[in-house]
Amino acid sequence: MNTREAIHAMLTTNTGRHMLDSGGAYGRNWERNASKSLDDFITGPYSWMDSYGCLTISLFHHLDAAVDFEAAMDAEYLAFTHNSSDSHLEDISNWIEHIGGTEIYSDNSYNHESALSQVIQYTVYEFDGEQYVALQIHQGCDVRGGYTRPWIFSLSDEYALLSESGSVYCTGSEQHRYDYYGGEWTIDGSYSREIQPYALQTEARKVGITEYIPCYECGYPLEGTDTRKEVSA
Ligand SMILES: [Zn+2]
Repeated sequence: MNTREAIHAMLTTNTGRHMLDSGGAYGRNWERNASKSLDDFITGPYSWMDSYGCLTISLFHHLDAAVDFEAAMDAEYLAFTHNSSDSHLEDISNWIEHIGGTEIYSDNSYNHESALSQVIQYTVYEFDGEQYVALQIHQGCDVRGGYTRPWIFSLSDEYALLSESGSVYCTGSEQHRYDYYGGEWTIDGSYSREIQPYALQTEARKVGITEYIPCYECGYPLEGTDTRKEVSA
């Protein structure tokens, strides 16, 4: 199983119907993902923007660029936790201690601003000079339940999962490019406070435009998706 296959397996994991997880109005992520093939995720957009100026970054592409699946270490983790009745977080902590690794930090993307299409929870640790992550994807509806089991990946850099970036294009003929990186936007490479989509939305609402965010440069709707971003295989 390669990295993309592992991410696809996680994204289509049935996390069941937890008692805390009603399914809600929008349903569970795994149910929406269940019919998607690996190719659907690979060819799907990297990021997109809605009519409110909210950016969403595909979790598949975000992970594909940031992590590498460590099949052997993942198999060891599964064997180590096979008979465990502890929580996943306790399992991860025990596992890191067991192999003589060092925990660096843990994060849940729900606890801060995040543009990822699904919530992730993970623990980054160091072992033998390399950085790894025990990663869970939230597949349910209620964020308290419905996570996959932890899967083990290596990381190119310990903050790779925190670095969220994406791009969208306007739908005009010039296709002005808006890039998001770490909470800030640039248009065609230059930064300006006024061209942040939220500020553009405020201006658009003032003149009665409610269905889309107009491009700062040409006024065409800023809702093009980014399918062209190169991602590592
Ligand atoms: Zn434009």
